[in-house]
Amino acid sequence: MTLQAKESILEVIGNTPLVKLQALSRDLNCNVYAKLEGINPGLSVKDRTVLSMIEQAEKEGKLIPGKTTIVEASSGNTGYSLAMICAVKGYKCIVTVKDKASKEKINMIKAMGAKVVLCPSGVKPNNPESYYQKAKTISETVDNGFYINQNYNLYNQHAHYNTTGPEIWEQTNEKVSYIFSPASTGGTISGVGKFLKEQNPTIKVIAADSEGSVLKKYHETEEYDTTLKRKTMLEGVGKDIIPPNVSMDNIDEFVLVDDERSVENIIHLAKTEGIMTGGSSGAALEAMRSKKNDFTPEDVIVVIFSDHGSKYLSKFFDTEWQVDNGLESIENVIRFLG
Ligand code: PMP
Repeated sequence: MTLQAKESILEVIGNTPLVKLQALSRDLNCNVYAKLEGINPGLSVKDRTVLSMIEQAEKEGKLIPGKTTIVEASSGNTGYSLAMICAVKGYKCIVTVKDKASKEKINMIKAMGAKVVLCPSGVKPNNPESYYQKAKTISETVDNGFYINQNYNLYNQHAHYNTTGPEIWEQTNEKVSYIFSPASTGGTISGVGKFLKEQNPTIKVIAADSEGSVLKKYHETEEYDTTLKRKTMLEGVGKDIIPPNVSMDNIDEFVLVDDERSVENIIHLAKTEGIMTGGSSGAALEAMRSKKNDFTPEDVIVVIFSDHGSKYLSKFFDTEWQVDNGLESIENVIRFLG
C-alpha cells in the first residue's frame, strides 16, 4: 500500500481505527472494541456529520463561499467540526454553545475563526435564550445565514449510515454483535444501527441516556415528557427534545447511566488502555457494562468513543474538578468492573 498525501484536512475525516480494549476484554471474557472517533481531525464523530450536511447543502446550491454564514447550536463538538470545515471551505461560521461546555471546546471553536455565542444551560428548548432558538434567530437575521440544524437535518444520520456503520461492519469482519453509543441528536446510533441491522437484524443496538433526558421514556412509551429536566455533567448524552435524527426503530434499548460512573470509566480507561476519551464514551461503556451478564465469549462488542479526552482537560481530567464534583481523585480510581 502506498501512502498518499491528502488534498486538505477534510480528506482525513472518517476511516477511524477500531481498537480492542485488552484489559476490558479480559475482564468480561469477550471481545470489546472501541471505535475511536476522537482520531478524526476535529477530534470527534461530528466531523463526519457536519461534512455530510455541508456537502448536501452545497449540492442543493444553498451555500456561497465568502458570503454564507453557517449557524449551528452545539455543545461544542459540532461547533468545532463546523468551524474547521468552514475555515477550509471559506464560509463564515457562528456557533451557539451552552455555558456548561468545556473551556477547551469553546476556545477551539474560536481558534478556527468562528464566533461563539454563549447561552444558558438551564432553559427550556422553546425559550428564546436557548441555544437552539438563538441559532435559529441568528441564521434568520444575519446576511446569507444558513442554519445547519443537526437535530433535524437527516444528513447527520446519513453520514453514519454511509460511513461509520460500513466501517464497523468491515473492521469486525462482519462479526459485530453489539453496538453501544451515546445518543444526543441520535445521528450516530441511528445511522450505524440502521446499516448494521440491514446486514444482520440480530445485532443489538443500545444507546446510553442521561438522567432527565426525554429519549429513553419516548422510546419505551412514545410520550415526549416535557416535565423532565436534564441533569447531567456529561456532554453529548441525552436530550430535551426528540430529534428526527433519532430513529427509534433501529435502537433496541436506551440505558440510563450514572454520570459519576461514566466519568470514572474514562479516568480508569486512560490508565488501563492508554486511551483518553470524553465523558459520553464513559456513558457508552457504562451502558455496555450493564449488559455484561448477557455476553458470551463469541460476542464482538463495539463501543463508540465519540470524542477525544483532550477536550476535557479542565473538566473530567482535572483533579480539582473531580474533587469538586464528588469523584474519587484521579490518583485513586482503581475500580472498573467491580
Ligand atoms: N458524545 C459527544 C461528546 C457529542 O458531542 C455528541 C454529539 N452532540 C454525542 C456523543 C452524540 O452523538 P449524536 O448526536 O450522533 O447522538
